[in-house]
Amino acid sequence: MANDPEFQALRTVSARAGADPLLVQAAGGNTSIKRDGILWIKASGTWLMNADKDDIFVPVDLGQLNKAVRRDDGSAEKAQDFVVADRNPSGLRPSIETTVHSALPQDVVIHVHCVGTIAHAVRADAGAVLAEKLAGLDWAFVPYVKPGLTLSHSIEAVLKPETRVLVLGNHGLVVCGDTVAETEALMDDVHARLTGTPRATASADIEALKRLAQGTGYDLPADPASHGAALDAASAAMAGQGSLYPDHVIFLGVGSVLAGEGETAADVAARFEAAGLPAPVSILFPGKGVLMNGSANAGAQALARCLADVTTRIPAGTALNYLTEAQNAELLDWDAEKYRQALNNKGAGA
Ligand SMILES: [Zn+2]
Repeated sequence: MANDPEFQALRTVSARAGADPLLVQAAGGNTSIKRDGILWIKASGTWLMNADKDDIFVPVDLGQLNKAVRRDDGSAEKAQDFVVADRNPSGLRPSIETTVHSALPQDVVIHVHCVGTIAHAVRADAGAVLAEKLAGLDWAFVPYVKPGLTLSHSIEAVLKPETRVLVLGNHGLVVCGDTVAETEALMDDVHARLTGTPRATASADIEALKRLAQGTGYDLPADPASHGAALDAASAAMAGQGSLYPDHVIFLGVGSVLAGEGETAADVAARFEAAGLPAPVSILFPGKGVLMNGSANAGAQALARCLADVTTRIPAGTALNYLTEAQNAELLDWDAEKYRQALNNKGAGA
């Protein structure tokens, strides 16, 4: 594979997308290429931004995997059983979204958590607004279901031979094509059509935040852009109503925690402790900014920024679809996802 120029091109576009927080956050997103019956897919828990320098692709036997998908075999979801072991020296596991890639017949598949796409895909009127903005593209909308095998079945249900763009409700974007260049161009086209302009926000009140963090392990976020979700009333209101996409739940927990008037980080943590809950990973202080728990990993930091990027791109007052209680719960009780989190906590690929 190392000598295949298309594989090299895939590594290059993967690294580029992975380094752009408007396309990919942390270990999110995945890319693949099919060659001689093998699906080379990004490994679970690895970061696309490292695709150029590290070996992050895992070979999966496409025929065996597709058979397992057709009989709705649960082992298809992790796809671990179908790894071609003697061509996988890294020993990494395939992405938990491998079946999304195997469901598509095209050679090249790119899946990103494109911020502009998410900002549309969470809207109650997603179908209508996307129809207008994606006019001329062969696209389809897939209403939200849990990522993995369920999602690949939902994709198969809407897929037509000409489909090249899939907008995943409350999740992200999938594009596919016969070549890397064609698929990359499609990703960039959809990104450009949907990225929009974020609402301008006030500046963070860093001094106030430092005071509010006193005596706790809370600290300023790694990326100052994260403050946006708390600095704009409309964005904070959207965040406060629940979880909008899976990686938010995985890395930041269910929904977002807004501090009440006059509440410090210690007060919020005490409020959670009294309810028998762990201290929140992040706390939004409306009008001031965001504080992150000292335990927040790189993934949590990236998703804190993502929340600001998504919510400031959604017009104030837009009706949104939030993940239900059951959908939040199924994300947090998911073995494959726990493996990805464990890798992330170890700092693999960070
Ligand atoms: Zn995804």
